[in-house]
Amino acid sequence: MLDLLGADLADLENLTNELNLPRFRAKQLFHWVHRQGVTAIGEMSNIPGKLQEILSEKAFITRPKLITTSKSKKGDTIKFLLKFSDGVMVETVLMTYERTASRDRNTVCVSTQAGCAMGCVFCATGMDRMERNLTAGEIMAQVWTAQRYCREYKLDQVTNVVYMGMGEPLANLPVVLKSIHLLNHPEGLGIGMRRMTISTCGLVPQIYQLADAALPVTLAVSLHAPDNEGRSSLMPINKKYPLEEVLKAADYYAEKTGRRVTYEYALFRGVNDSEEDGAKLCRLMHNRLANVNIIPSNEVPESGFQSPEPEVLAKFVQKLAACGVNAVVREEKGGDINAACGQLRRRIRGK
Ligand code: SF4
Repeated sequence: MLDLLGADLADLENLTNELNLPRFRAKQLFHWVHRQGVTAIGEMSNIPGKLQEILSEKAFITRPKLITTSKSKKGDTIKFLLKFSDGVMVETVLMTYERTASRDRNTVCVSTQAGCAMGCVFCATGMDRMERNLTAGEIMAQVWTAQRYCREYKLDQVTNVVYMGMGEPLANLPVVLKSIHLLNHPEGLGIGMRRMTISTCGLVPQIYQLADAALPVTLAVSLHAPDNEGRSSLMPINKKYPLEEVLKAADYYAEKTGRRVTYEYALFRGVNDSEEDGAKLCRLMHNRLANVNIIPSNEVPESGFQSPEPEVLAKFVQKLAACGVNAVVREEKGGDINAACGQLRRRIRGK
């Protein structure tokens, strides 16, 4: 059975060939699924009923069950907990921003795996076992969940997609790449690749693969510590791919794509927020084509990590600015709805 939501035009042409249908049907199917966002073949009004029946024997549209929705007090961040047909659950977050003359932005943060094998110690998802990779259709279904919400509440459509939810996107790279092309397709949602960000905890071989794909998407590397000792204690993957190798691969990415790499640095109180950490980070970022996002981490009670003191945060950022590093504090959204990935799923499961 073909999941139409994960299908590109070539997949749909294979399907129409197999069914001896004219080629224009492939494009029609693509429009219904990727532009209109229908959730059932029966909703495709320009496809005759008999043909809908034939298609239903060969294809389906992934439709996750919405288990719960959680909205921040400000109402600008909405988290969806979705369940797929085999029972796995993932989180998707929609972050809405006020429209300004120079900026229109509604961002959806998608999961790429149910669970995660990377075991970062500060992460609620990393505390659960890895269940499985998601399919391209399941990634698209998350974007469409957010898109339908935007349509229902008369918000602007989804403009940006960040692959920063549950799972390590580069551990599911072919599927992530397929979803990027589907989202970008002019006959579908047409979301610009420059409005997509892929995060990684530092899978070096896959960073090179992504660089060689030469797509104008932003690469966001989770750094979280300025040296190997600190990083290995937070992120076990650093023992396999140490900091120097990650930075070298990220530099290659910047060179191949001409795009600044974003380095994510979540500040944890008393763990990685000292003056010395700031000075080391300055040295690492010096002369790199890089943006640094400082994240005053959401509290994750399960891990015991705490947000930094406000004055420590301010000093840390000042230090980076003083040594010429392009650093911003990432706007914290949804702290009151367990927006850090994996937290809502754990709460619902009773963990
Ligand atoms: S932070 Fe990302 S890579 Fe690390 S365990 Fe959590 S989901 Fe996996």
